[in-house]
Amino acid sequence: MISQYNIHIKGLVQGVGFRPFVYRLATDMHLHGYVDNRNDGVFVMIQATPSQKDDFVKGLTTHKPDVAEIETVTVLEKPVSKPLPDFFIAPSREVDNHITRISPDIAVCDECLQDLISQPHRIRYPFINCTHCGPRFSIINALPYDRPGTTMSVFRMCPECEAEYTDVRDRRFHAQPIACNHCGPHYHLFMKNGYETVDYEEILSRMAAVLRQGGVVALKGLGGFNLICNAENEKAICRLREIKKRYKKPFAVMFPDVPTLSHYLNILPLEKEIVSSWRRPIVLLEEKQKIGTGINDGYKTVGAMLPYLPVHYHLFASSELKALVMTSGNRGDNPILTDNDAALSDLLREVDLFVEHNRDISNRVDDSIVQVVGEQPRIIRRSRGFTPEPLSLKFDTEGILALGAERVSMFALGKDKEIILSQYIGDLKNRETYLFYREALDKFCLLFRFTPRYLVCDAHPDYFSTQLALQLAQRFQIPLLRVQHHHAHAAAVMAEYGLTEDVIAVCLDGTGYGDDGCIWGGEIFRCNQSEYRRIAHLPYVPLPGGDAAAKSPWRMAVSYLKSIYGSKADYPETFIERLGESHIRQIEMLIEKGVNTPLTSSTGRLFDAVASLLGICDENTYQAEAAALLEQIAENGISRCYPINSDNPLDLRSLFDGILKDYRLSVPVSEIASVFHNTLSAMLLNIIIQKVKTERLTTVVLSGGVFQNKRLTNLLIKQLANRKISYYLSSRIPCNDGAIAVGQLYIAALKKRG
Ligand code: ZN
Ligand code: ZN
Ligand code: FE
Repeated sequence: MISQYNIHIKGLVQGVGFRPFVYRLATDMHLHGYVDNRNDGVFVMIQATPSQKDDFVKGLTTHKPDVAEIETVTVLEKPVSKPLPDFFIAPSREVDNHITRISPDIAVCDECLQDLISQPHRIRYPFINCTHCGPRFSIINALPYDRPGTTMSVFRMCPECEAEYTDVRDRRFHAQPIACNHCGPHYHLFMKNGYETVDYEEILSRMAAVLRQGGVVALKGLGGFNLICNAENEKAICRLREIKKRYKKPFAVMFPDVPTLSHYLNILPLEKEIVSSWRRPIVLLEEKQKIGTGINDGYKTVGAMLPYLPVHYHLFASSELKALVMTSGNRGDNPILTDNDAALSDLLREVDLFVEHNRDISNRVDDSIVQVVGEQPRIIRRSRGFTPEPLSLKFDTEGILALGAERVSMFALGKDKEIILSQYIGDLKNRETYLFYREALDKFCLLFRFTPRYLVCDAHPDYFSTQLALQLAQRFQIPLLRVQHHHAHAAAVMAEYGLTEDVIAVCLDGTGYGDDGCIWGGEIFRCNQSEYRRIAHLPYVPLPGGDAAAKSPWRMAVSYLKSIYGSKADYPETFIERLGESHIRQIEMLIEKGVNTPLTSSTGRLFDAVASLLGICDENTYQAEAAALLEQIAENGISRCYPINSDNPLDLRSLFDGILKDYRLSVPVSEIASVFHNTLSAMLLNIIIQKVKTERLTTVVLSGGVFQNKRLTNLLIKQLANRKISYYLSSRIPCNDGAIAVGQLYIAALKKRG
């Protein structure tokens, strides 16, 4: 008995070769019907027997393309209205506001790499792509995902490409960015002396020569420009640092393949899987052999990635180099450059070669960063290869716009039952970054046909995101909810894992606006999705000079010693030598008088103080520099702890007693750093055990940027696991302030539901 089955598939099913896959599945099974791309998913109609229908639905999930992700399949049975003679692919059309997913950008696939060698019209064609790979989010202007809605719309397909595009059996059937040597985008090289060329082979050999000679190349990539140099050439790295005005922060390195990468770095199977996945993020890995001086001074880890564009493969082959620094093309703290003219005027005079291409970037994306902690991938920076993949919830989020935080800003939209998180944006205090934030917000609203009906932002009155929220609330006359920063941190983890019950939340970060006007950042909450109670926190200390203190770890060293020991503060001699007695005295005075000296319970500032006392870092030149260096210098294999006050586990006195004593006894700084991590982890474990008992709860949520510290996190989660305390730490969204928008949205969704 043949019926008609209307099958609706939701998930990541657009722009990933899903329709041709459905077509092949249906035709292989000799089914009649059609498949249709709609902006609310993929719709399939088949005329089949019940058992054929079952096999077909099963086949959808078992044989789907790698990148595709099926969220729901709904099947509706109907009588056959009109028998169809075959199976066909219907043209896309718009349906309603319930848009479906946009695929993130996908690294060039192996088959395309093969075609680069063998397919006549694509021999060494650097913009090759297929239904399973290539640019997606970065080139999309409008939904549904079809060529006219992308920045490829200006390129007219040649007859050969068009034939492939329309042939359902072809690997490039409906590959929207399809292109070849005859019809697609091309690279364009510029030199300072006015020389230009569009000859790809010449561009490649010139780039290779410059890189081999220690020069710097600006190359337009997928989501923006990159600056590239030989990672094994110290002088080249110095120059790159000058150009970028980035003097210390480590650079990410691209290796040609896994074997070369493994020569320099230790890599576990899971890390190998992540680094070579279609998302191709940067993965933080432990150094086995020094790559080059100046890449990651003070670090034992390197941000490593593999080629994801054809030009990367060609560049390694032509230059025969083993490791390339591949960093975002921008200067200072500005966003990565995407526009050809802006990049040309900004970078041409700085670099040795400037190479752009004529495929516009619609959505800027940086390289994403992942590290493995507790045998799970943990994303640190979420952008290329991940954005705009949503997070699914069990309840409605429609119309909620969460504006996020400020330092690591990202916003989020609520659509249907999903949270769509923006790409990584950066620090809104930078004007250019703020403009990027506004532009991305406009784009997301347009792309996802989103109109804000409910706003949520941080409680901090001065964040630019808060100010914007206030303006929008006024302009659209819609409600605005303000959420405490650390509650949002905790809620972000709860959102990712669908937690709704009360939890103990350990929220450790640099800065968050507290309810008492103090600067929080070492918080233990009892909370759920709607309310929280602060049940413990790191002791308050003065933040001498306010924001300035976050840039100057040494000020925090003075603050802690003064708070703990008062007038008996006994600074290490080396500390006094470095900073000068009068400077120290000035800060002490500031604290005594309480001028511009708010109180803080920030964990970030505690790391700062310790790093400075140990002579590791007195001034932060980038966010969390001192804390990162303190983690990196810590030695393995040391298990001792400083004593812990069991009545008051977060008391810091014995910690500082121990550090100062060890330092005076000339215990190596690497050992003290290690003992500090052990002690902090033990303090946290103690307070968690205490609170789990008194609050009668069993679930612990860990969040905040401090959990990017792999050493501390590993220590703590191992001990929690040993004690059978279940813990949650974000994996798919960052634990830093990139998560704030997600947490805000999760909290608002419940409030809105009433
Ligand atoms: Zn491909
Ligand atoms: Zn073509
Ligand atoms: Fe935070």
